[in-house]
Amino acid sequence: MSFYTDNLVGASVTPPIALPQLVPSRICLQCDVCCRFPDPDSALRPYFTENEITRALAGGVEGTVFPNRRGSQVILVPELHGDGYLCPAFNAATSTCRIYEQRPLDCQLYPLALMWGESHDQILLGWDTKCPFMREEIPGEIQRHADRVMALLDQPGIHDQVVAHPRLIGRFQEDVVVLAPLPRLTEAVAGQWGPAPLHRLTLDDIPRMTTALDRSGWSRAQSLAAYSPVYHYMWNGLLAYWWMEIRGIFCLFAQSLDGWFMPLPPIGVGSIDAPMSDAMGLLRRWNGDSPVSRVENVPAQLVPELERLGYRLTPKEPDYLYRAMDLAALAGDRYKSQRALCNRFEREQSFEVAPYQAGDRQDCRALLRDWSRQKQAEGLEAFGAMLLADAAPAHEVIWSQASALRVTGRVVRTHGRICAYTFGYWLTSATFCVLLEVTDRTLSGLAQYLFRETCRTAVAEGAEYINTMDDAGLPGLCASKQAYHPAMLISNFVASPVRES
Ligand code: SF4
Repeated sequence: MSFYTDNLVGASVTPPIALPQLVPSRICLQCDVCCRFPDPDSALRPYFTENEITRALAGGVEGTVFPNRRGSQVILVPELHGDGYLCPAFNAATSTCRIYEQRPLDCQLYPLALMWGESHDQILLGWDTKCPFMREEIPGEIQRHADRVMALLDQPGIHDQVVAHPRLIGRFQEDVVVLAPLPRLTEAVAGQWGPAPLHRLTLDDIPRMTTALDRSGWSRAQSLAAYSPVYHYMWNGLLAYWWMEIRGIFCLFAQSLDGWFMPLPPIGVGSIDAPMSDAMGLLRRWNGDSPVSRVENVPAQLVPELERLGYRLTPKEPDYLYRAMDLAALAGDRYKSQRALCNRFEREQSFEVAPYQAGDRQDCRALLRDWSRQKQAEGLEAFGAMLLADAAPAHEVIWSQASALRVTGRVVRTHGRICAYTFGYWLTSATFCVLLEVTDRTLSGLAQYLFRETCRTAVAEGAEYINTMDDAGLPGLCASKQAYHPAMLISNFVASPVRES
């Protein structure tokens, strides 16, 4: 294999795979389907392998759009004018790809597509009817093109790339016309990733995960905030989330920079012994001996069973749970300072509070940018700075998918400008979780006012508890959460297999 060295990144880069193209570029230039996406979490945003990322960096694409340099879907960027999102390699002014010659296999394949069959038992090659050109093309020509591509997909370089990066295989889409099954690829993928289907977590899977959580009984008034799909889904741009049904039990997996882990224990009814053991077996297969194989957000109730099964349990930061009435009233001496700040904001500012609407997204984005600058200017510890850097893609998902994720949001405006926003969700009918809160830090009392309003609204809608999640180990966040006098700290553990010496 030949290599060339790229001066910009100083790394050895394998030359790109070149698949034949069916659609003439003059047609592509006139079309507005590819490279643009309605939402930041679009399942169809392009996937880059490690080599493809290296080449994209050399082509001038920003490194920050690749959450995992070993292979990831890109983080889409908001359109300057409009409500949609663009691939960061797309030049909107010329409607061209800035790295066309180096674009990833995922893009080269299009308008052909690799996808799972409807029952997820075989990989298929199909063509996407969303491509306007394909609707005009002669079926015989499409088939001849597909035959050429299939022959290339059988070559070890491409075949191994697809097997190593299962995200390159999309889920079944009704508007993709099936051309042929790919049995050799199906067999190789099952050999690598396990016989049970491994699915990317998409918005369509939220009801399935919600049903599994409801049936499991793990999602209760005093449960960790993590026992809700939105808690995980909002990070879908940064981490790759996957799910698999093992022995009829829903198992959630996440692929991080370090490797694979389970963000939740297996979610189902009955003993988790067998599914947990199977899931750990898969993590070992995918991670090797790495200590990254673990289960996060283990509640205290599961600790005895997991210890009996031989796992090591390590405590991590607990969730803060408050009585909702306490926070809505802020009565008595213990809430004196918060009350004074709320009063000050009400006295000094002319403002209005309104439910979040999709059209507020641009203003929220501007506020998040200001807020991040304010936080950075105050000086942040390294971990806090890292959390801040990761915030934008997660907030984009919430702004875009609030109603699909059943997240409620409110904004505060002063002088017609959004100066604060907050989002939260109902863990159960008794517990409201505060997911995000961003406020202009130059407006004294605004944060306290907005939090009290959130709690008052939740109480009016039946909340007994408010869960504000954990403090991420940040001392400042811990102090401000403690200052509201939690009724309970909900224990949280990480379970890891005991390593043999
Ligand atoms: S890499 Fe290029 S071809 Fe692929 S989605 Fe981005 S802009 Fe479009």
